[in-house]
Amino acid sequence: MSSKQPGFATRAIHVGQEPDAESGAVSPPIHPTSTYVQQELGKNKGYEYARVSNPTRTRLEQNLAALEGGIAAPVFASGMAAINAICSMYKSGDHIVCGHNLYGGVPRLFDQVLADFGLQFTYVDTSEVRNVERAIRKNTRIVYVETPTNPLMALSDIESIAQVCHRRKVELVVDNTFMSPYFQHPIALGADMVVHSTTKFLNGHSDGLGGVVVCTTREQAEKLAFLQKAAGAILSPFECWLVLRGVKTLPVRMEQHDRNGRFVAEFLVRHKKVKQVFYPGLANHPQYELAQQQMYGFGSMITFETGSLSNAKKMLRKVRLCSLAESLGGVETLISHPATMTHGSLGEKGRREIGITDGMVRISVGIENVEDIMDDLDQALAAI
Ligand SMILES: *Cc1c(COP(=O)(O)O)cnc(C)c1O
Repeated sequence: MSSKQPGFATRAIHVGQEPDAESGAVSPPIHPTSTYVQQELGKNKGYEYARVSNPTRTRLEQNLAALEGGIAAPVFASGMAAINAICSMYKSGDHIVCGHNLYGGVPRLFDQVLADFGLQFTYVDTSEVRNVERAIRKNTRIVYVETPTNPLMALSDIESIAQVCHRRKVELVVDNTFMSPYFQHPIALGADMVVHSTTKFLNGHSDGLGGVVVCTTREQAEKLAFLQKAAGAILSPFECWLVLRGVKTLPVRMEQHDRNGRFVAEFLVRHKKVKQVFYPGLANHPQYELAQQQMYGFGSMITFETGSLSNAKKMLRKVRLCSLAESLGGVETLISHPATMTHGSLGEKGRREIGITDGMVRISVGIENVEDIMDDLDQALAAI
């Protein structure tokens, strides 16, 4: 083998995915065990108890670290458990600057759970770097950014924010769930940690929850490994195996998601019943240039404006191929209504502040034949 780093698809299929040493099984085994036998006191094969580590989990953690370009990638029971673990690295009195348009569960965790433990949060529009700069204080430990945002598809400039953070000795955490490591490499742009809900594109088949924090320093990796052991919100061996299987096809899935996403976005732009389309791959997206710079594709998350709650309801009642459901990133097309589903807990005022309207519909374009997806949307939009 040459010393050159293997390409992305090769890493997805081979890192941590080596055949089982004992049997030669090409597909890595699942290790459903809670504990491991010890040869004698203080002597074991590197595993003691499954909350601490498990061979199937080790494989997945190696794989995801290689895909994001980090040094370790501890996995957790869900995306939220991963984000909670990041926050557990800090202490009462520490301050976190975060985006004002985050995945709905994140402000719920920050404001309704972690604020009671003394962590402080400031929400700003991170699409303007100077807002981040202004919000950083003496006790700020991390800046937490999601790009693109959900459901408005606004981008934040990872490289510029990382520079501001590092000048102020603050670490940058990027939630890369929407783009996956295939289309966006936050660590290469300066991010210090990357978080994913593996539930979405990484697993890709809507059949398991999971989360990961990709680390760039030993200190982060050690703290998070300690938190896996101490707090216990680890990913089960079976779920680890599902993600290991899912990531093998991440590159081909993402290519197809992206191709379908572009077609559906253009179709929606042309559609008479659609008032506005939010997709970073459209030339009129306010950050189209940044999208081209920091992403290698535009993905398959699209939000569009139907004009009113009643229009949104009418069309969502009619979809047949597209499933009305929360979540995203699976092979099947999912469609949802942010105002009453993912962003319901923000309240009307909260939604208005960030620009989420009652007429907005969000679609996670799957990898079905794109003509079928567009036909389904067309017949559903006819109900408006
Ligand atoms: C789904 C999601 C999460 C939360 O992940 P879970 O696996 O549902 O706990 C966090 N961030 C983003 C961007 C998400 O889409």
